[in-house]
Amino acid sequence: MDLTHRPRRLRRDRIRGLVSETSLEPADLIAPVFVDATTDERVPIESMPGHERVPIAEAVPRVEEVLATGVEAVMLFGIPESKDPEGSRAWAADGVVQEATRRIMGETDAYVITDACLCEYTDHGHCGPLEEELAEAADPGMADSTMTVDNDATLEALQRIAASQARAGADMIAPSGMIDGMVGAIREGLDGAGYPEVPIMSYAAKYESAFYGPFRDAADGAPAFGDRRHYQMDPANAREARREVALDVKQGADVLMVKPALPYLDIVSDLRREFDHPIAAYNVSGEYAMLHAAADRGWLELEAVARESLLSIKRAGADLILTYFAEDVARSL
Ligand SMILES: [Zn+2]
Repeated sequence: MDLTHRPRRLRRDRIRGLVSETSLEPADLIAPVFVDATTDERVPIESMPGHERVPIAEAVPRVEEVLATGVEAVMLFGIPESKDPEGSRAWAADGVVQEATRRIMGETDAYVITDACLCEYTDHGHCGPLEEELAEAADPGMADSTMTVDNDATLEALQRIAASQARAGADMIAPSGMIDGMVGAIREGLDGAGYPEVPIMSYAAKYESAFYGPFRDAADGAPAFGDRRHYQMDPANAREARREVALDVKQGADVLMVKPALPYLDIVSDLRREFDHPIAAYNVSGEYAMLHAAADRGWLELEAVARESLLSIKRAGADLILTYFAEDVARSL
C-alpha cells in the first residue's frame, strides 16, 4: 500500500484556508430588487421567503438594507402601474425603474443595474411586441400558435428602454429577452444617446427553464399564453450557448450571463474557458425557493446549502452571482 500521497494532510483546520481555491465575497454578489408602482406598501413574495415587492417610495430604504450587508450592487426589476401590448411604460421617463433608479443613484452609493426587457410591461407578458408568424413556421409552443415576438420591432423598444434607464442614471444595462441583435442595438442606442461609458451585461445564455416559477410571482411577468421557447434557449443545448455568447461578444457585451445557474454549471464553466469577459450567473428564484422549502421541512440547513450553492457557481467559473441569497450570505461571511 503506497500512502506517500495523503491529501488529508492539507485538510486540517489551520491549512484549509491557505489551500482553498475559491472564495465568496459580498463584492461578488448582486441582489435583485423588485419595485412595484401598483402598491404603496411592501408586499411579501410568498414563493421567495424574505423578499418583497417594494413601492417606489421604499426603493431607497430597500437598497440601503442591501448595502448594510456588504453587497454593493442591485439589479432592479419594475412592475409598472399599467401594461399595454407594446410595453410602453418600460421606456417612460417617469417609469417605475427610471424613477427608482434616480432616487437610488441620488441617495445611495449602490451600483445600479437595470433589467431591460418588456415582459413585465406588456399585457400579454412576452418579451416584446407580438407579430403573426407564418402558418408553416407556427409551433404549438404558443397557444394561439400563430403569434410570436416581433424580433426587430423589439430591438427599437430595447434601444428606447436602455437610453431612458441610462438617462435616469443606471450604472449598467442588463437586457434579458434573448432577442437576436439586442446587445448591438442597445450599444448603438446608448452610444447615440450619449452614454458610451454605460456597460451592458447580456443575459447571453438564458434558458427556457422551469426554475423561473417564483420570479413570475414576484415580477408579475408570466406570459398570458404559450411559453418563451421561441426566444429562450433549449435546455438540451450547450454548443448553442457558445454561439449565442459569441454573437453577444461581437455586438459589444461587457459581461456575459448564464441563467439559471445551478442546473447549467457546465455552461458557466465552458464559457469561462472560451471567453475572457467576466461571466455572471443568475442563481434564480426556483433555486432559492427549493432550498427554502427543504429547509422549512427540516431536511436541509439553509445557510450551509445556500453558501455551498454560491461557492459551486464561483468554482464553475462565475465572477459575479445574481442571487436572492445575496444579503443572507453576505451577512454570514
Ligand atoms: Zn423578458
